[in-house]
Amino acid sequence: MFPLSSENEQTAKSIVEKLKIERRERSNKLPVLSFRRLYSILNGDEKLFVKNLLNQNPKTYGFNGPFLGIEKVPLFLKKIRGQKYTREREEEEIAQQYLPFQVWLAYKKLSKAMKNEIGKEILIESGYRSPAYQVLTFLYSLVEKHKLDYEKTLNLVALPGYSQHGHPPLQAIDFTTKDGALRGEKMGFENTSEYDWLSKSANKYHFHLSYPKNNALGIRFEPWHWHYQKQN
Ligand SMILES: [Zn+2]
Repeated sequence: MFPLSSENEQTAKSIVEKLKIERRERSNKLPVLSFRRLYSILNGDEKLFVKNLLNQNPKTYGFNGPFLGIEKVPLFLKKIRGQKYTREREEEEIAQQYLPFQVWLAYKKLSKAMKNEIGKEILIESGYRSPAYQVLTFLYSLVEKHKLDYEKTLNLVALPGYSQHGHPPLQAIDFTTKDGALRGEKMGFENTSEYDWLSKSANKYHFHLSYPKNNALGIRFEPWHWHYQKQN
């Protein structure tokens, strides 16, 4: 499928235009977008494009993460509203996020402990993302951020079915700080005291760094991305 033919490039761009409309009109619902809803807003060519994308094997492109599966959106997810951060004196609100209840409870414990110990809070920049939403996240990154450079995009954004954000048994959270240091410049997260604390203490709350430096999965170091897994 990659590199995209010029026809497919046009199709990718037209899907991204539809994503922009969804963002304007239904941003709170995007993380729980179903395939049924996605296909209802796409035309025939666009649907076919998405189906082809779902059949890609990222190993072909150097991504060695496991296939986690494409499952339905869970029925019960905790809605997380009203998270605010302040950046350059401007207060901004993070769009509504979703998490499996158990993961949300674990996050609350972790966040409380961090506040007690170092006086800092940590926010959820991205929690659950359905596989259908992951399709759009991937295409947005490909078209708008990386000028259709598929190798770069595959290195930065998981294909649907390969993201821990869409797989509740290994539910991932992308954290951000109260001063919003990360938005758009995520690499800064590595140098925050919040990250330092997470490195020492997150495991106690069953959160694990998914992609450490030089990991064998072919995924860049993501200091903000932690998954929840409680060993029995
Ligand atoms: Zn992530």
